[in-house]
Amino acid sequence: MLEWQQQQQQQQQQRQQSKAIDSTAACPSTVAVLSPPQVCRAAAVDDIAEQHQQQQPTASQAVPAVEALQQQQQQLQQQAEVLQQLSFSHRHGLHDSQGRLMLKNLTLPELEEWCCAVGEDPRRALQIWRWLYYDNNWVASLQDTLGKQNGFSQRFIDKAQQLASVDGGLLLEQVAAAKDGTTKLVFKLTEGEGAGGSVEAVLIPMTHRRGSRKHITLCVSSQVGCAMNCQFCYTGRMGLSGNLTTAQIIEQMVVACRVLAADPSADASITNVVFMGMGEPLHNYEAVMAAVEVMCQPLGLHMSHNKVTVSTVGLVDVLERFAASSNVQLALSLHATTDEVRDWIVPVNRRHNLAALTAVLRQHYGTGNAAGRRVLVEYTMLAGVNDSLQDAQRLVALLEGVDAKVNLIMFNPFQGTRFKPSTIEQVLAFRSVLIQAGRICTIRDSRGDDEMAACGQLGNPALSSKAAPILPPPLQFEHVLA
Ligand code: SF4
Repeated sequence: MLEWQQQQQQQQQQRQQSKAIDSTAACPSTVAVLSPPQVCRAAAVDDIAEQHQQQQPTASQAVPAVEALQQQQQQLQQQAEVLQQLSFSHRHGLHDSQGRLMLKNLTLPELEEWCCAVGEDPRRALQIWRWLYYDNNWVASLQDTLGKQNGFSQRFIDKAQQLASVDGGLLLEQVAAAKDGTTKLVFKLTEGEGAGGSVEAVLIPMTHRRGSRKHITLCVSSQVGCAMNCQFCYTGRMGLSGNLTTAQIIEQMVVACRVLAADPSADASITNVVFMGMGEPLHNYEAVMAAVEVMCQPLGLHMSHNKVTVSTVGLVDVLERFAASSNVQLALSLHATTDEVRDWIVPVNRRHNLAALTAVLRQHYGTGNAAGRRVLVEYTMLAGVNDSLQDAQRLVALLEGVDAKVNLIMFNPFQGTRFKPSTIEQVLAFRSVLIQAGRICTIRDSRGDDEMAACGQLGNPALSSKAAPILPPPLQFEHVLA
């Protein structure tokens, strides 16, 4: 067969497949019951109506405009009723300010559920998914797929845009590169609990053996500010302004992918994701775990479960859930070896003390556990506070029976802090105690601190109206902070 005939046949088949999807009948599970209008969605439609009124259309224009608005209002009302019955309806921040579902909040099975519920073929879900996440697509609008191979028809785009949005609820405002190659991405929130506030993500290139592929770690935020008030953390000074949605967490990664792709010198893609930016991930559990599932979907952002790390200060009850249901990596921010010091510098310890915390670790990350799980213990070295050799010995004892690797973090000072970093000699001596006890122990360099992109330096307390209190130290530490 001639080559052009083959091409014609392929194009014909593609047209028929596309038509088949477009004309698919409603899924049997479609719910078509109308509900009373939800206040926010009705308000959003009223806003749109008001804007249209302000434009003062001619009489002939006004009729179709009003009809279109009524149609959209009706569709949103129908969708509201449908969504209430879907498995993910309990998650916060699913809709934008116009009442449309933000599709980046959904995992692939949830997207299939939604497609089915609004009368589309569930295969649509994979088509949307691939345009959002796969093969360097990362489209910002369904319209961007128009006319492209496997793109959407105008009919579907018109329908989808009435009900849903692929916007992630974040606007990239600033890209700040530090001298060591670390890049901080500053986003403004356009939707959700923290709308108007900002969050940050950090791209951290890692140097490895000569000739090996460059690795890049993306550190993402899970909240606007943080409620945990760790005393050595700049973000903690902000207090909590709101939880990020799954879409806003995913958008950080999608934008980071776009930034890397646009930089020919980067020559690498994201190899690791760590939830160590602003916020306590387990304090926003549902949104974070859905984001983890989106990141690890092989047909999308395809991160390995071994390369995604969720960090926590130790919310013991949620940690139990996490350990029982997730196979991504865990990092525990420990930072102290006595309840007295931890009650001060990691105040959540007053609710979940060291005994409770280490009991959970032994249960789920015990030495020789069947799943081969290991926890990464993060320990920020604060001069005169938690860096003595007795602390190192207590740390060895605390981790007895736990499969743990210890990561010592050089403290990154910020304006207004009274803590000082430990000397490198003290850090090395501390590490020696752990190594002699048979522990793997690494020292994390300070990365990106000239652009306030280093660990514990994200955010801006000056912009927060909920600044957290500075806690008085136990008496014996007064002189250390003087
Ligand atoms: S160290 Fe983490 S948990 Fe603690 S205040 Fe900072 S961001 Fe929150």
